[in-house]
Amino acid sequence: MGYKLTPAGLAALLDELVTSRRVFGPVRYAGKGRLAGTDLITYGPVKGLADVVWDARTTFSPKEVFFPVKESLFYFSHGEITESALKASEILETVVFLRACDLNAVTRLDKIFLENGPAADNYYARRRQHTHFVLMECQESFPGCFCVSMGTNRATGHQAALRPEGGYYLLQALAEPWLSLGERYGQPADVEPVWVQKNSLTVKVPDRVDTSLFQHELWREYSSRCIACGRCTLSCPTCSCFSVQDIFYRDNPERGERRRVWASCQIDGFTDMAGGHKVREDRGERMRFKVLHKIDDFRRRFGINMCVGCGRCEEVCPEYISFARCVNTLSQLMNGGAGA
Ligand code: SF4
Ligand code: SF4
Repeated sequence: MGYKLTPAGLAALLDELVTSRRVFGPVRYAGKGRLAGTDLITYGPVKGLADVVWDARTTFSPKEVFFPVKESLFYFSHGEITESALKASEILETVVFLRACDLNAVTRLDKIFLENGPAADNYYARRRQHTHFVLMECQESFPGCFCVSMGTNRATGHQAALRPEGGYYLLQALAEPWLSLGERYGQPADVEPVWVQKNSLTVKVPDRVDTSLFQHELWREYSSRCIACGRCTLSCPTCSCFSVQDIFYRDNPERGERRRVWASCQIDGFTDMAGGHKVREDRGERMRFKVLHKIDDFRRRFGINMCVGCGRCEEVCPEYISFARCVNTLSQLMNGGAGA
């Protein structure tokens, strides 16, 4: 069902929604941007319509709503282990406003955490099962996006789709509570989602990647240029790596907790093993690992590319390293070209 809402109508709808649900979306943190005098647009709690930023891409992705940066898995005390429990606020139904690329990214995370082994990851599943999505339709592409190339400009799996248009908001309600809320706060209307049809950036993912490219000189540029800061992976909506740490409390070393914390394949120490063995010390090799995982390894396992073309990794990289350019170079090399 479709509905047309005035700004006051959508504001009232959200005021009702937040009384029974946690709502997250792109919000503005004034003066917290990467450059002096700029704002940070990122995911945060939404208390009302005025909080939602419609016209900018977030620096970080929505994944931390259901895959926190750090999370206690269990507590230990004198040989006893107690699994961590979610707070009452964390088992409330949760609504996340996100764009088509990020909704596609959720399907990638679901594959890793729920389908990639004999059992689902309980810690991910317990948050994810309470999380629902509202699609924020992109009427125009942001600079650096390549969702059309990746086939992630369209999405499914959301409860509702919403866009501002002509001074109103157009809502496509696909499930409750949006059907009831649309009835109550809007007027019936014909509403179909709008999908971005063109990006300024086009990326050609190679159909296959030959192992001869593993030693290609193209990776050497990244060996010197990449500073191993990990920003690209922390901002990526599809990266899922974490490390596990045991924390012993200072006041009683017999007690403590096991935590998992986001990790990055780009930073020093990620591949360190017992005995001092390190698998990928060279930063160019780390870049190769990341890029091929996003556009080749994952596809071999699940049949879809991991990268959803959101463009964040390039936007946040302090060294202006372009993931898209790297993938296009790989395509040219696989087609017999010299690469960019
Ligand atoms: S690899 Fe880069 S462009 Fe692709 S999904 Fe991750 S952050 Fe977005
Ligand atoms: S953001 Fe750029 S410099 Fe930092 S780890 Fe990623 S590719 Fe390297």
